[in-house]
Amino acid sequence: MSTSLLYRARAYDTPHDPFTEAATEPGFRYDDDLGLVVSDDGVITARGPFSAVAPAHPDAAVIDLRAGILLPGLVDTHVHFPQVRVIGALGMPLLEWLEKCALPEEQHLASRAYAETIANEFVAGLIAAGTTTSLVFGSHYASAVDALFAEAARFGLRVTSGLVVSDRMLPEPLLTTPERAHAEAMELASRWHGTGRARYAVTPRFSLSASDPVLAACAAVMADLDGAFFTSHVNENPAEVTTVAGQFPDRSDYCDTYDHHGLLDARAVLAHNVHPTGAELEVLAARRTAIAHCPSSNSALGSGLFPLREHVAAGVPVALGCDVGAGTGFSLFKEGLQAYFVQRLLGPVGLPLAPAHLLHLSTSAGAAALGLSDVIGDFEVGKDFDAICLRPPAGTALDIGLRHAGSPDEALGKVFALAGDADVADVWVGGVQIASGGFVRALRPGR
Ligand SMILES: [Zn+2]
Repeated sequence: MSTSLLYRARAYDTPHDPFTEAATEPGFRYDDDLGLVVSDDGVITARGPFSAVAPAHPDAAVIDLRAGILLPGLVDTHVHFPQVRVIGALGMPLLEWLEKCALPEEQHLASRAYAETIANEFVAGLIAAGTTTSLVFGSHYASAVDALFAEAARFGLRVTSGLVVSDRMLPEPLLTTPERAHAEAMELASRWHGTGRARYAVTPRFSLSASDPVLAACAAVMADLDGAFFTSHVNENPAEVTTVAGQFPDRSDYCDTYDHHGLLDARAVLAHNVHPTGAELEVLAARRTAIAHCPSSNSALGSGLFPLREHVAAGVPVALGCDVGAGTGFSLFKEGLQAYFVQRLLGPVGLPLAPAHLLHLSTSAGAAALGLSDVIGDFEVGKDFDAICLRPPAGTALDIGLRHAGSPDEALGKVFALAGDADVADVWVGGVQIASGGFVRALRPGR
């Protein structure tokens, strides 16, 4: 007997990239009364107007979500697991913020028990924000990364993460050696890479704290680990860029510190890139390496205004990250809005962003950056049902705005201007609902 479900909803997605020249207005797909059939293994098997889909699937139980707005699950391409408790420290540039806020807290994760508590808070934060897929910047401690993977698995979240490695410029407890970096990464990957929805990401913190031998060890892990991802930071802050240039006199630029070791390809995601050179953009485009744009963090740390137009013109893939810690929370709606603000503030050199761009950046662009375009990112037949339903509390500005929006485009703009965690009512990953009415539930409680 079929156990398919038929979701009936007002739904948006972005199956076509609105940044391409061929894009047509409004750049998203909107269905006022969509029918989505989802199989018992969580795959979308049919879609179309509800009036057409329903008669063809008479056995499917109907879940009526028309009181809200259905969106694909959000995809965060840069979010730091150990920094949940330091979100919101304002008034410092990057290197001072690292020294005073992030690095002292990150050392506490040496304790497995502490790391498990942080993992619990972190995963709850992702789900509350409607983030179903993420590239998570891990911890310097293998036991903490293990705790993160275990907690994400409890909810079936799609998490790509790994051990953060460094051998200089950080407090001694956060440092490792090339040999240990390789051994601990392989041991973690043997348990988690390809287990359920988990994947391993090779993660030097940044070239500033990772010497050539550590970067070479990272390349060795990439070579040993089929399908692993690579992530790090690049060109975030001018002082950082200058320091890295001094540390690597033989490299042509910051990107080259990674590229020299063969670390940049379509499975690499670098955060920030606020201050790239033209040559770096060319290399990133040629390697198909994506940039995780973290506009709230860039604004909070005063790192700079992201040159999105140059990235798009060069053909460098861009998605969003909340950066948590230096950012201002988990919500990708807020990141979308801040990305919009940044481009406005750039004036004539900014790239004006419409609601479709913001939805694309926070869903399908992230799926593409993480090599998951065949699995998630929109509501195409054949993809997994990763979704969120927004139902703003009655009387809030978003509730009022949505009820009075003059068009789907206007309504989607209001979502990015006004939505927050409190509006994310339901969350599904792979067809399994892991939050309903704002309450989070594990796949198998007590396991
Ligand atoms: Zn970061």
